[in-house]
Amino acid sequence: MHRAESAVREQAVRGPELRALEQGVVPLNAWARLLLELCGDPRCSGGRWAQALKARVQWTDTLRLLTTPELEDFLWRVGDATARLINMENFRRRWLFFETGKIDYSWGSAWKRRKAEYADIYKLLGSKNFAEACRVISEQWRSFLGLLKAAKEGRLEPWQRVRPPGYRKDKEGQRIPIVIVRSDNYRIDLERRLLHLKYWNVSIPFTGEPRWLTRPGAKRGRLIITCDSVKKRWYAKIAVEVTLERKLGGGLKAGIDLGRERLIALVTEPLNERGEGVALLYRGGPLKADYFYFERKIAEIDKMLSDPKLEEADRSALKEMRRRLYEKVKRRRDQLFANAAAHLVKMCLELGVAALLLGYPRGIAQDKPGKGNTSMWSYRRLERRVAIAAENRGIPVFEIPEDGTSKTCARHGCEVQRGPRGLIRCPYGHAMHADVNATMNILARGGGRVLQRVKVLSFIPTASGVIAVNEKRNSNPA
Ligand SMILES: [Zn+2]
Repeated sequence: MHRAESAVREQAVRGPELRALEQGVVPLNAWARLLLELCGDPRCSGGRWAQALKARVQWTDTLRLLTTPELEDFLWRVGDATARLINMENFRRRWLFFETGKIDYSWGSAWKRRKAEYADIYKLLGSKNFAEACRVISEQWRSFLGLLKAAKEGRLEPWQRVRPPGYRKDKEGQRIPIVIVRSDNYRIDLERRLLHLKYWNVSIPFTGEPRWLTRPGAKRGRLIITCDSVKKRWYAKIAVEVTLERKLGGGLKAGIDLGRERLIALVTEPLNERGEGVALLYRGGPLKADYFYFERKIAEIDKMLSDPKLEEADRSALKEMRRRLYEKVKRRRDQLFANAAAHLVKMCLELGVAALLLGYPRGIAQDKPGKGNTSMWSYRRLERRVAIAAENRGIPVFEIPEDGTSKTCARHGCEVQRGPRGLIRCPYGHAMHADVNATMNILARGGGRVLQRVKVLSFIPTASGVIAVNEKRNSNPA
């Protein structure tokens, strides 16, 4: 799992970083955090931030475990005991919080109960893994404390919710198992494809290709095993710390805007002294088409479900079908986002782009929680995809506030008219793609230089790949 967003908002901020955050600049990946800390606000630090650097980042490798009934039995036993420990500790800490307002985020307060109320769990987990479980609990509470602090300082995003850590329980009140293993208490045999848990002396076969573990210099961290209760499958998630290197390339900045119609719009700084540059537009058409297709299918199922004469067995079969459809549509969307982000970053490297400035529309375009699962468009998911893809290739991504970037001409600063076919007209007599203009404004706000001439390249991202479109219409501001 990527730590970027939450960690950034939770960590103690200082100096230039704090000033940048106050003005709404948010680093979205490891490179951006590093550069913000070293050089301050990307909007006014000139070329200083464009240094070649190395960064340590956290990644997760996920492996699917091939379990036998005996292994499942074992995982359930250990996983349930760990869940019980977490629930009991969180009960105690929640009670403390609600009664006294105090937050217990230490790991030692759980650890010292290992020979008392948690004696049976301690014995089952072993001291190393018991200690690691205590750390997990402590981290949850530490993060809660951080969010509370952020809320008090008004640094919280509208979509962030602050709640004390809860219980590992499903809707029926059943505990959800989790196995936590300390980094030095397991071994991975990549050749024989076995995960060995030392304390229990248990070996579990797995499938899946680890992406990060095999990198030179990769450092293994905590192992977490959970069960997907729907698919009835067990997964091992391994935290891996790797070093990424960043090359400078052309050292250019580029602005990015995310939207529904145009999934992604990107505009570079000038690539030459004539002020010529490139705009990349990724269309949202296939995403919408997918969404309408699935919506229709789901409406058909709902219609059948509303029949009162429907038998119970049919009803549950239909519900299962509906659940699978939702899953499928989400999977396709995520694949489409991943393809678009990978393509975008590849283009950035080719063009010599060394930093991305992403316009964030404050207060709108949120993923509203609760309001149906049908929301295909997920701003934060796409944003995260772009940030991760860029991080992997050494490009920092900063989020900067965007207000009214579509109303003014990026070149002249005057008000523009909305024309037909997604164009805007400037009173100085030129026309531009509305998205290109808005993105250029974001770039300018991020301290980037504005283009005199733009070559627009259009792409259609789909779940199976990205298609280039031949678009004749170039928009050349006069
Ligand atoms: Zn103009």
